[in-house]
Amino acid sequence: MEDRWHRSPKRGEQVAWPADNPRPGTWCTDPRHGEPGTLVTSARHRHGLRWLARWVDHDGNERSKAFDRKADAQRHITVVTTALSTGSYTDPKRGAATFATVAEPWFDSKRGLKPKTRAGYRSLLDVVVLPRWGETPLRDITHADIQDGSQARHRPRGTPAKGAKSIG
Ligand SMILES: [Zn+2]
Repeated sequence: MEDRWHRSPKRGEQVAWPADNPRPGTWCTDPRHGEPGTLVTSARHRHGLRWLARWVDHDGNERSKAFDRKADAQRHITVVTTALSTGSYTDPKRGAATFATVAEPWFDSKRGLKPKTRAGYRSLLDVVVLPRWGETPLRDITHADIQDGSQARHRPRGTPAKGAKSIG
């Protein structure tokens, strides 16, 4: 979680109190933001949503969403990390796509399998999975649904990318 409006003073930094024309890099004097004289204003001070919830998804990509209130950002992080650990996380950007739109690329990626295995997957898709789930938005499908509904093997896992850096 990130406070986009403020940062902590650096070690040994001499932070100025704001003059008439406050600029970034001075002490925040708004007691609603925190103890005056403890937070240094950023360039975004009072602009946009203050709190940025950040998490890393299954694919190791860093995601973020901004909130007005700190408690909402914290709750969002809790919900997302719980969903990630239970396997029910779905990428919000892919939420509008239907299951069929990811099933075909997935099947394509199985070219290395034995023809018989591949044919088995194909019929599983055509007979069981797509009729049931093809038109369902991805955001409405949980990992548990898929396992219950089809026994299709699908193992979400992700290795956070090394050196993945924050986005601002
Ligand atoms: Zn402030």
